[in-house]
Amino acid sequence: MTAAFITHADCARHEMGPQHPECPERLAAIHDHLLIKGLLDYMTPYDAPLATEAQLARAHSAMYVRELIASSPAEGHRQVDPDTCMCPHTVQAALRAAGAAVQATDLVLGGEASAAFCCVRPPGHHAGQASAMGFCFFNNVAVGVRHALDVHGLRRVAVIDFDVHHGNGSEDIFRGDERVLMCSIFEQGLYPFTGEGATGPNMVNVGLPTRSGGERFREAVTQRWLPALDAFAPELIYVSAGFDAHREDDMGNLGLVEADYEWVTQQLMGVARRHCEGRMISCLEGGYVLSPLARSVAAHVKVLIGAD
Ligand SMILES: [Zn+2]
Repeated sequence: MTAAFITHADCARHEMGPQHPECPERLAAIHDHLLIKGLLDYMTPYDAPLATEAQLARAHSAMYVRELIASSPAEGHRQVDPDTCMCPHTVQAALRAAGAAVQATDLVLGGEASAAFCCVRPPGHHAGQASAMGFCFFNNVAVGVRHALDVHGLRRVAVIDFDVHHGNGSEDIFRGDERVLMCSIFEQGLYPFTGEGATGPNMVNVGLPTRSGGERFREAVTQRWLPALDAFAPELIYVSAGFDAHREDDMGNLGLVEADYEWVTQQLMGVARRHCEGRMISCLEGGYVLSPLARSVAAHVKVLIGAD
């Protein structure tokens, strides 16, 4: 059984202007680097289907889903927040990105894939129950998680988020959902300025100071995430895989390197092997400088597919 590599050409048609960091070239850079590294040889490629409104409505309000789809501009851009806008191809890309997470769930739980990497955009972890923001429209991971819980009948699913920004949208959706344990590490004092107040018993949030570096990141994973994950004993693990904490990425200043992404993925695979036969689904979130993004994804995927 091989791992799945899920993407779609539609995901590269969404664009937010020529200077925007969340650009279509991100996907090509990742694909090309995985190809050169030989990692795609170990993976089965899939074209992401479109998520249905019913699938989206498990994580979002049905009215939000309908209104976002209806607000697709016929031409030009429609601004959603100061950093986020829709072009005529955005809805189609967002439906594919969420559909990828649903397909990954079906493949992994159906025993057709050992693990899955969803190489998709737009990203999702800032999208809340009824809000698009921070380059995100639908919360891809949340749509996948709710599909696993509500359709496949799983009882415990873990969500890991190591993007440099706090996944406020995921927290908005999963707060109070005892079937979900969300573990995140993010940089303090950074957009969207959330994650440090009172949360809930199913949230393990660790804000790290600027320039913490790999050592403090690993310490937080070891001391905060792993005990909580082992106690929770997930039946499936999702990763909001953002790579903008890399030291060459100017979106944040945590100062991680490829080896840190490889290490954290090894720790998570350890949890997955102990509790759920290695089942892990990873969805791309941030990471904006193409070379470190592609190298970091390769370090992560290598472990995800068992080629390390
Ligand atoms: Zn980010």
